[in-house]
Amino acid sequence: MTEFVMENCKVNPKGNLEFAGADTTELAGQYGTPLMLLDENKIREHAALYRDAMKKYFTPDSYPLYASKALSYKGIYRIMQQEGVGSDAVSCGEIYTAKAAGFDVGKMVFHGNNKTEEDLRYAVRVGIGRIVVDGPEELEELGKICTGLGVKQKIQIRITPGIDPHTHKAISTGRVDSKFGNAIATGQAEKITRAALKTEGVELMGFHCHVGSQIFETEPFINASAIMMSFIADMKKKTGFEAKELNLGGGFGVRYVKEHPYFDYEKAIEELSVKIKEQSASLNVKMPDIMLEPGRSMVAAAGITLYTVGSVKEIPEMKNYVSIDGGMTDNPRYALYQSQYEAVIANKAGQKADYVCSIAGRCCESGDLIAENIKLQKAKKGDILAVFVTGAYNYSMASNYNRLPRPAIVTVRDGHSEVAVRRESYEDLIKNDV
Ligand SMILES: *Cc1c(COP(=O)(O)O)cnc(C)c1O
Repeated sequence: MTEFVMENCKVNPKGNLEFAGADTTELAGQYGTPLMLLDENKIREHAALYRDAMKKYFTPDSYPLYASKALSYKGIYRIMQQEGVGSDAVSCGEIYTAKAAGFDVGKMVFHGNNKTEEDLRYAVRVGIGRIVVDGPEELEELGKICTGLGVKQKIQIRITPGIDPHTHKAISTGRVDSKFGNAIATGQAEKITRAALKTEGVELMGFHCHVGSQIFETEPFINASAIMMSFIADMKKKTGFEAKELNLGGGFGVRYVKEHPYFDYEKAIEELSVKIKEQSASLNVKMPDIMLEPGRSMVAAAGITLYTVGSVKEIPEMKNYVSIDGGMTDNPRYALYQSQYEAVIANKAGQKADYVCSIAGRCCESGDLIAENIKLQKAKKGDILAVFVTGAYNYSMASNYNRLPRPAIVTVRDGHSEVAVRRESYEDLIKNDV
Protein backbone atom coordinates (compact mmCIF):
# COMPACT_ATOMS: atom_id res chain seq x y z
CA MET A 1 0.00 0.00 0.00
CA THR A 2 1.31 3.40 -0.98
CA GLU A 3 1.22 5.80 1.97
CA PHE A 4 0.85 9.50 1.24
CA VAL A 5 1.61 12.38 3.54
CA MET A 6 -2.08 13.34 3.36
CA GLU A 7 -4.67 10.98 4.81
CA ASN A 8 -7.34 12.13 2.32
CA CYS A 9 -5.24 10.81 -0.59
CA LYS A 10 -5.09 7.24 -1.85
CA VAL A 11 -4.61 5.17 -4.97
CA ASN A 12 -7.94 4.22 -6.55
CA PRO A 13 -8.62 0.94 -8.40
CA LYS A 14 -7.54 2.56 -11.69
CA GLY A 15 -4.13 3.27 -10.17
CA ASN A 16 -4.78 7.03 -10.08
CA LEU A 17 -4.48 9.42 -7.17
CA GLU A 18 -7.79 9.94 -5.40
CA PHE A 19 -8.24 13.12 -3.33
CA ALA A 20 -11.25 13.72 -1.08
CA GLY A 21 -13.10 10.97 -2.93
CA ALA A 22 -12.40 12.27 -6.46
CA ASP A 23 -10.05 10.97 -9.16
CA THR A 24 -7.47 13.75 -9.59
CA THR A 25 -6.72 12.83 -13.23
CA GLU A 26 -10.41 13.34 -14.06
CA LEU A 27 -10.42 16.70 -12.26
CA ALA A 28 -7.32 17.76 -14.21
CA GLY A 29 -9.12 16.83 -17.43
CA GLN A 30 -12.31 18.63 -16.42
CA TYR A 31 -10.85 21.88 -15.05
CA GLY A 32 -7.39 22.06 -16.65
CA THR A 33 -4.05 22.61 -14.94
CA PRO A 34 -2.46 24.11 -12.94
CA LEU A 35 -5.30 23.50 -10.53
CA MET A 36 -5.60 23.97 -6.79
CA LEU A 37 -7.90 21.47 -5.11
CA LEU A 38 -9.30 21.99 -1.63
CA ASP A 39 -10.88 19.31 0.55
CA GLU A 40 -13.76 21.25 2.07
CA ASN A 41 -14.52 18.63 4.74
CA LYS A 42 -10.93 18.84 5.94
CA ILE A 43 -11.12 22.63 6.35
CA ARG A 44 -14.39 22.29 8.28
CA GLU A 45 -12.86 19.56 10.44
CA HIS A 46 -9.93 21.80 11.39
CA ALA A 47 -12.22 24.77 12.05
CA ALA A 48 -14.44 22.65 14.31
CA LEU A 49 -11.44 21.21 16.13
CA TYR A 50 -10.15 24.67 17.08
CA ARG A 51 -13.63 26.00 17.87
CA ASP A 52 -14.59 23.12 20.15
CA ALA A 53 -11.23 22.65 21.86
CA MET A 54 -10.96 26.36 22.66
CA LYS A 55 -14.43 26.42 24.21
CA LYS A 56 -13.66 23.27 26.16
CA TYR A 57 -10.29 24.29 27.57
CA PHE A 58 -10.46 28.08 27.76
CA THR A 59 -13.38 30.39 28.70
CA PRO A 60 -16.71 29.93 26.85
CA ASP A 61 -16.10 33.17 24.91
CA SER A 62 -12.75 32.01 23.56
CA TYR A 63 -12.61 31.33 19.83
CA PRO A 64 -10.27 30.89 16.84
CA LEU A 65 -9.67 33.55 14.22
CA TYR A 66 -8.69 32.06 10.88
CA ALA A 67 -5.56 33.90 9.68
CA SER A 68 -6.80 34.52 6.18
CA LYS A 69 -3.44 35.54 4.74
CA ALA A 70 -2.89 31.76 4.43
CA LEU A 71 -5.64 31.57 1.79
CA SER A 72 -8.10 34.34 1.05
CA TYR A 73 -11.01 34.11 -1.38
CA LYS A 74 -14.72 34.65 -0.80
CA GLY A 75 -15.69 31.03 -0.24
CA ILE A 76 -13.23 30.44 2.60
CA TYR A 77 -14.85 33.20 4.68
CA ARG A 78 -18.27 31.58 4.13
CA ILE A 79 -16.92 28.26 5.38
CA MET A 80 -15.39 29.90 8.46
CA GLN A 81 -18.58 31.81 9.22
CA GLN A 82 -20.65 28.62 8.95
CA GLU A 83 -18.24 26.89 11.33
CA GLY A 84 -18.48 29.69 13.90
CA VAL A 85 -14.89 30.81 13.42
CA GLY A 86 -13.71 34.44 13.28
CA SER A 87 -10.95 35.68 11.04
CA ASP A 88 -7.88 37.84 11.06
CA ALA A 89 -7.01 40.20 8.25
CA VAL A 90 -3.74 41.90 7.40
CA SER A 91 -5.06 44.25 4.73
CA CYS A 92 -8.20 46.03 3.61
CA GLY A 93 -8.22 43.74 0.59
CA GLU A 94 -8.81 40.80 2.91
CA ILE A 95 -11.46 42.72 4.86
CA TYR A 96 -13.15 43.67 1.59
CA THR A 97 -13.13 40.04 0.38
CA ALA A 98 -14.64 38.85 3.67
CA LYS A 99 -17.34 41.52 3.54
CA ALA A 100 -18.16 40.68 -0.06
CA ALA A 101 -18.70 37.09 1.06
CA GLY A 102 -21.13 38.23 3.75
CA PHE A 103 -18.70 37.53 6.59
CA ASP A 104 -19.44 39.24 9.91
CA VAL A 105 -16.43 41.58 10.19
CA GLY A 106 -17.36 42.13 13.84
CA LYS A 107 -15.61 38.79 14.31
CA MET A 108 -12.51 39.98 12.50
CA VAL A 109 -9.27 41.43 13.86
CA PHE A 110 -7.03 43.68 11.80
CA HIS A 111 -3.24 43.35 11.90
CA GLY A 112 -0.27 45.02 10.30
CA ASN A 113 2.87 46.90 11.28
CA ASN A 114 2.15 49.84 9.02
CA LYS A 115 -1.55 50.38 8.49
CA THR A 116 -2.22 53.57 6.59
CA GLU A 117 -4.73 56.19 7.68
CA GLU A 118 -6.95 54.99 4.85
CA ASP A 119 -6.70 51.40 6.13
CA LEU A 120 -7.66 52.42 9.66
CA ARG A 121 -10.53 54.59 8.50
CA TYR A 122 -11.91 51.80 6.29
CA ALA A 123 -11.66 49.19 9.07
CA VAL A 124 -13.40 51.44 11.62
CA ARG A 125 -16.14 52.40 9.13
CA VAL A 126 -17.02 48.79 8.29
CA GLY A 127 -17.19 47.89 11.98
CA ILE A 128 -14.13 45.67 12.33
CA GLY A 129 -14.20 43.67 15.59
CA ARG A 130 -10.72 44.56 16.87
CA ILE A 131 -7.78 46.52 15.58
CA VAL A 132 -4.48 45.13 16.81
CA VAL A 133 -2.48 48.30 17.33
CA ASP A 134 1.15 47.85 16.37
CA GLY A 135 2.74 51.07 17.55
CA PRO A 136 2.36 54.56 19.03
CA GLU A 137 1.78 56.44 15.75
CA GLU A 138 -1.01 54.08 14.84
CA LEU A 139 -2.61 54.49 18.27
CA GLU A 140 -2.59 58.24 17.94
CA GLU A 141 -3.94 58.19 14.41
CA LEU A 142 -6.66 55.68 15.28
CA GLY A 143 -7.70 57.77 18.29
CA LYS A 144 -8.13 60.82 16.03
CA ILE A 145 -10.12 58.90 13.42
CA CYS A 146 -12.47 57.36 15.99
CA THR A 147 -13.03 60.63 17.85
CA GLY A 148 -13.78 62.28 14.52
CA LEU A 149 -16.32 59.62 13.62
CA GLY A 150 -17.75 59.59 17.15
CA VAL A 151 -17.14 55.87 17.65
CA LYS A 152 -15.27 53.76 20.16
CA GLN A 153 -13.10 51.10 18.52
CA LYS A 154 -12.12 47.97 20.45
CA ILE A 155 -8.39 47.33 20.24
CA GLN A 156 -5.70 44.90 21.31
CA ILE A 157 -2.07 45.91 21.53
CA ARG A 158 0.56 43.81 19.78
CA ILE A 159 3.24 42.82 22.26
CA THR A 160 6.66 41.39 21.45
CA PRO A 161 7.22 38.80 24.17
CA GLY A 162 10.88 38.14 23.35
CA ILE A 163 10.55 34.53 22.22
CA ASP A 164 12.79 32.90 19.64
CA PRO A 165 11.01 29.84 18.27
CA HIS A 166 13.01 27.36 16.24
CA THR A 167 11.72 28.15 12.79
CA HIS A 168 12.85 29.86 9.60
CA LYS A 169 13.96 33.43 10.42
CA ALA A 170 11.62 34.89 7.80
CA ILE A 171 8.64 33.57 9.77
CA SER A 172 9.96 34.22 13.29
CA THR A 173 8.15 37.25 14.69
CA GLY A 174 8.28 37.15 18.50
CA ARG A 175 11.83 38.35 19.07
CA VAL A 176 12.57 41.78 20.53
CA ASP A 177 14.24 42.84 17.25
CA SER A 178 11.07 42.08 15.23
CA LYS A 179 9.49 44.74 13.03
CA PHE A 180 6.17 43.92 14.72
CA GLY A 181 4.79 45.06 18.02
CA ASN A 182 5.94 46.60 21.30
CA ALA A 183 8.59 44.84 23.35
CA ILE A 184 8.06 44.20 27.04
CA ALA A 185 11.83 44.17 27.62
CA THR A 186 12.35 47.73 26.36
CA GLY A 187 9.44 49.25 28.29
CA GLN A 188 7.65 50.12 25.03
CA ALA A 189 4.82 47.68 25.80
CA GLU A 190 4.04 49.40 29.09
CA LYS A 191 4.32 52.83 27.52
CA ILE A 192 1.83 52.14 24.74
CA THR A 193 -0.56 50.44 27.19
CA ARG A 194 -0.61 53.58 29.34
CA ALA A 195 -1.11 55.70 26.22
CA ALA A 196 -3.99 53.48 25.00
CA LEU A 197 -5.78 53.80 28.34
CA LYS A 198 -5.69 57.58 27.89
CA THR A 199 -6.63 57.62 24.19
CA GLU A 200 -10.17 58.72 23.46
CA GLY A 201 -12.06 56.76 20.85
CA VAL A 202 -10.45 53.41 21.63
CA GLU A 203 -11.28 50.71 24.16
CA LEU A 204 -8.40 48.48 25.15
CA MET A 205 -9.59 44.86 25.34
CA GLY A 206 -6.27 43.12 25.85
CA PHE A 207 -3.04 42.04 24.26
CA HIS A 208 -1.81 40.09 21.28
CA CYS A 209 1.37 38.25 20.42
CA HIS A 210 2.42 35.98 17.58
CA VAL A 211 5.72 34.18 17.98
CA GLY A 212 6.18 32.74 14.50
CA SER A 213 5.00 30.08 12.11
CA GLN A 214 5.52 26.39 11.33
CA ILE A 215 6.46 25.62 14.94
CA PHE A 216 6.24 22.00 16.09
CA GLU A 217 6.97 22.38 19.80
CA THR A 218 4.38 23.64 22.26
CA GLU A 219 7.10 25.17 24.43
CA PRO A 220 7.40 28.55 22.64
CA PHE A 221 3.60 29.01 22.86
CA ILE A 222 3.54 28.03 26.56
CA ASN A 223 6.43 30.40 27.27
CA ALA A 224 4.76 33.20 25.34
CA SER A 225 1.49 32.72 27.22
CA ALA A 226 3.33 32.80 30.56
CA ILE A 227 5.12 36.02 29.60
CA MET A 228 1.85 37.57 28.40
CA MET A 229 0.02 36.60 31.62
CA SER A 230 2.83 38.15 33.69
CA PHE A 231 2.56 41.29 31.59
CA ILE A 232 -1.21 41.39 32.16
CA ALA A 233 -0.61 41.07 35.92
CA ASP A 234 2.05 43.76 35.82
CA MET A 235 -0.26 46.17 33.97
CA LYS A 236 -3.06 45.43 36.43
CA LYS A 237 -0.74 46.29 39.34
CA LYS A 238 0.65 49.44 37.71
CA THR A 239 -2.43 50.89 35.98
CA GLY A 240 -5.47 49.07 37.34
CA PHE A 241 -6.30 47.81 33.82
CA GLU A 242 -7.11 44.11 33.72
CA ALA A 243 -7.09 42.61 30.21
CA LYS A 244 -10.27 40.81 29.16
CA GLU A 245 -8.66 39.20 26.13
CA LEU A 246 -5.40 37.49 25.33
CA ASN A 247 -4.74 36.76 21.66
CA LEU A 248 -1.86 34.30 21.22
CA GLY A 249 -1.62 34.43 17.42
CA GLY A 250 -1.02 31.49 15.11
CA GLY A 251 1.93 29.34 14.20
CA PHE A 252 1.10 25.68 14.90
CA GLY A 253 3.16 23.47 12.58
CA VAL A 254 1.95 21.45 9.61
CA ARG A 255 3.28 18.10 8.39
CA TYR A 256 4.35 18.81 4.81
CA VAL A 257 6.60 15.77 4.43
CA LYS A 258 6.76 12.41 6.18
CA GLU A 259 9.84 13.47 8.17
CA HIS A 260 7.80 16.21 9.85
CA PRO A 261 6.11 15.26 13.12
CA TYR A 262 2.35 15.28 13.68
CA PHE A 263 1.29 18.27 15.75
CA ASP A 264 -1.62 17.56 18.09
CA TYR A 265 -3.57 20.86 18.02
CA GLU A 266 -6.04 19.86 20.72
CA LYS A 267 -3.29 18.72 23.06
CA ALA A 268 -1.41 21.99 22.52
CA ILE A 269 -4.57 23.92 23.38
CA GLU A 270 -5.03 21.82 26.52
CA GLU A 271 -1.42 22.39 27.60
CA LEU A 272 -1.78 26.12 26.97
CA SER A 273 -4.95 26.22 29.06
CA VAL A 274 -3.23 24.50 31.98
CA LYS A 275 -0.44 27.09 31.94
CA ILE A 276 -2.77 30.06 31.57
CA LYS A 277 -5.09 28.87 34.37
CA GLU A 278 -2.10 28.27 36.62
CA GLN A 279 -0.78 31.78 35.90
CA SER A 280 -4.21 33.32 36.32
CA ALA A 281 -4.47 31.82 39.83
CA SER A 282 -0.92 32.52 40.96
CA LEU A 283 -0.80 36.06 39.58
CA ASN A 284 -4.31 36.89 40.76
CA VAL A 285 -5.68 38.01 37.39
CA LYS A 286 -8.98 36.98 35.85
CA MET A 287 -8.82 34.23 33.23
CA PRO A 288 -8.92 36.18 29.94
CA ASP A 289 -10.87 35.07 26.87
CA ILE A 290 -8.31 33.46 24.58
CA MET A 291 -8.03 33.94 20.86
CA LEU A 292 -5.79 31.92 18.56
CA GLU A 293 -5.07 32.76 14.92
CA PRO A 294 -4.37 29.53 13.04
CA GLY A 295 -3.69 30.03 9.35
CA ARG A 296 -1.48 27.28 7.97
CA SER A 297 -2.91 24.56 10.22
CA MET A 298 -6.46 25.35 9.06
CA VAL A 299 -5.90 25.00 5.32
CA ALA A 300 -2.47 23.64 4.34
CA ALA A 301 -3.32 19.95 4.65
CA ALA A 302 -6.64 20.53 2.88
CA GLY A 303 -5.00 21.42 -0.43
CA ILE A 304 -3.11 19.82 -3.31
CA THR A 305 -2.01 21.30 -6.63
CA LEU A 306 -2.21 19.51 -9.98
CA TYR A 307 0.11 20.29 -12.87
CA THR A 308 0.74 18.82 -16.29
CA VAL A 309 4.25 17.57 -16.97
CA GLY A 310 5.92 19.07 -20.05
CA SER A 311 9.56 18.41 -20.71
CA VAL A 312 11.60 15.85 -18.81
CA LYS A 313 15.25 16.75 -19.09
CA GLU A 314 17.91 14.25 -18.08
CA ILE A 315 21.45 15.55 -17.74
CA PRO A 316 23.59 12.39 -17.67
CA GLU A 317 25.24 11.68 -14.31
CA MET A 318 23.94 14.99 -12.95
CA LYS A 319 20.32 15.85 -12.60
CA ASN A 320 16.82 15.19 -13.90
CA TYR A 321 14.32 18.01 -14.33
CA VAL A 322 10.58 17.44 -14.55
CA SER A 323 9.04 20.67 -15.83
CA ILE A 324 5.44 21.57 -15.05
CA ASP A 325 2.94 24.15 -16.32
CA GLY A 326 3.08 26.16 -13.07
CA GLY A 327 5.73 26.81 -10.44
CA MET A 328 6.83 29.79 -8.36
CA THR A 329 3.91 31.84 -9.70
CA ASP A 330 1.39 29.61 -7.90
CA ASN A 331 3.72 28.24 -5.20
CA PRO A 332 6.68 30.49 -4.33
CA ARG A 333 7.45 28.75 -1.04
CA TYR A 334 10.42 26.71 -2.26
CA ALA A 335 11.94 29.76 -3.93
CA LEU A 336 11.36 31.83 -0.76
CA TYR A 337 12.13 29.43 2.09
CA GLN A 338 13.31 26.14 0.51
CA SER A 339 10.11 24.63 1.90
CA GLN A 340 9.83 20.89 1.45
CA TYR A 341 7.08 19.19 -0.51
CA GLU A 342 6.17 15.67 -1.54
CA ALA A 343 4.62 14.91 -4.90
CA VAL A 344 3.33 12.02 -6.98
CA ILE A 345 2.53 11.37 -10.63
CA ALA A 346 -1.24 11.19 -10.23
CA ASN A 347 -1.83 8.85 -13.18
CA LYS A 348 0.89 6.46 -11.93
CA ALA A 349 0.17 6.84 -8.22
CA GLY A 350 0.36 3.12 -7.48
CA GLN A 351 3.74 2.66 -9.15
CA LYS A 352 7.11 2.69 -7.51
CA ALA A 353 8.60 6.15 -6.85
CA ASP A 354 12.29 5.70 -7.54
CA TYR A 355 12.98 8.40 -10.13
CA VAL A 356 15.10 11.11 -8.48
CA CYS A 357 14.40 14.52 -9.97
CA SER A 358 13.80 18.20 -9.40
CA ILE A 359 10.46 19.78 -10.22
CA ALA A 360 10.91 22.95 -12.25
CA GLY A 361 8.39 25.68 -12.98
CA ARG A 362 7.98 27.44 -16.30
CA CYS A 363 9.27 30.91 -15.38
CA CYS A 364 12.45 32.35 -16.86
CA GLU A 365 14.17 31.99 -13.52
CA SER A 366 16.55 29.16 -12.50
CA GLY A 367 15.25 29.39 -8.93
CA ASP A 368 11.74 28.56 -10.10
CA LEU A 369 11.57 25.15 -8.45
CA ILE A 370 8.99 23.34 -6.34
CA ALA A 371 11.31 20.62 -5.05
CA GLU A 372 14.82 19.33 -5.57
CA ASN A 373 16.01 15.73 -5.55
CA ILE A 374 12.73 14.14 -4.65
CA LYS A 375 11.53 10.70 -5.68
CA LEU A 376 8.74 10.41 -8.21
CA GLN A 377 7.34 7.76 -10.50
CA LYS A 378 9.14 7.84 -13.87
CA ALA A 379 7.59 10.91 -15.50
CA LYS A 380 6.89 11.78 -19.09
CA LYS A 381 5.19 14.56 -21.05
CA GLY A 382 1.46 14.66 -20.44
CA ASP A 383 1.55 13.09 -16.97
CA ILE A 384 -0.31 14.81 -14.14
CA LEU A 385 1.83 15.82 -11.17
CA ALA A 386 0.18 16.32 -7.77
CA VAL A 387 2.00 18.31 -5.08
CA PHE A 388 0.74 17.66 -1.55
CA VAL A 389 -0.15 20.05 1.29
CA THR A 390 -0.41 23.23 -0.76
CA GLY A 391 -3.53 24.77 0.80
CA ALA A 392 -1.70 27.53 2.73
CA TYR A 393 0.55 30.31 1.43
CA ASN A 394 0.40 29.06 -2.15
CA TYR A 395 -2.58 30.67 -3.88
CA SER A 396 -2.45 33.64 -1.47
CA MET A 397 1.18 34.22 -2.49
CA ALA A 398 0.59 33.60 -6.18
CA SER A 399 1.68 36.21 -8.70
CA ASN A 400 1.37 36.99 -12.38
CA TYR A 401 5.13 36.99 -12.92
CA ASN A 402 5.89 36.34 -16.60
CA ARG A 403 2.23 37.26 -17.17
CA LEU A 404 1.07 33.83 -16.20
CA PRO A 405 -2.61 33.66 -15.20
CA ARG A 406 -3.36 32.39 -11.70
CA PRO A 407 -4.85 28.88 -11.50
CA ALA A 408 -8.41 28.01 -10.56
CA ILE A 409 -9.42 26.77 -7.12
CA VAL A 410 -11.82 23.86 -7.03
CA THR A 411 -13.35 22.55 -3.80
CA VAL A 412 -13.95 18.83 -3.47
CA ARG A 413 -16.39 17.33 -1.01
CA ASP A 414 -17.05 13.58 -0.86
CA GLY A 415 -16.11 13.21 -4.52
CA HIS A 416 -18.21 16.17 -5.72
CA SER A 417 -16.30 19.14 -7.14
CA GLU A 418 -17.12 22.81 -7.66
CA VAL A 419 -15.23 25.88 -8.89
CA ALA A 420 -14.50 28.27 -6.00
CA VAL A 421 -12.22 30.68 -7.87
CA ARG A 422 -12.18 30.82 -11.66
CA ARG A 423 -8.93 30.50 -13.58
CA GLU A 424 -7.57 33.89 -14.66
CA SER A 425 -7.84 34.71 -18.34
CA TYR A 426 -5.48 36.76 -20.51
CA GLU A 427 -8.22 39.38 -20.49
CA ASP A 428 -7.94 39.48 -16.64
CA LEU A 429 -4.21 40.06 -17.00
CA ILE A 430 -4.62 43.28 -18.97
CA LYS A 431 -7.76 44.64 -17.34
CA ASN A 432 -5.94 47.47 -15.53
CA ASP A 433 -3.58 48.29 -18.37
CA VAL A 434 -4.43 51.62 -19.96
C1 LIG B 1 0.82 34.84 9.85
C2 LIG B 1 0.08 35.15 11.08
C3 LIG B 1 -0.77 34.20 11.64
C4 LIG B 1 -0.95 32.81 11.08
O1 LIG B 1 0.18 32.03 11.23
P1 LIG B 1 0.13 30.48 10.83
O2 LIG B 1 1.51 30.01 11.03
O3 LIG B 1 -0.30 30.41 9.42
O4 LIG B 1 -0.84 29.81 11.75
C5 LIG B 1 -1.50 34.57 12.75
N1 LIG B 1 -1.38 35.80 13.30
C6 LIG B 1 -0.56 36.73 12.78
C7 LIG B 1 -0.50 38.06 13.40
C8 LIG B 1 0.20 36.44 11.67
O5 LIG B 1 1.02 37.36 11.17
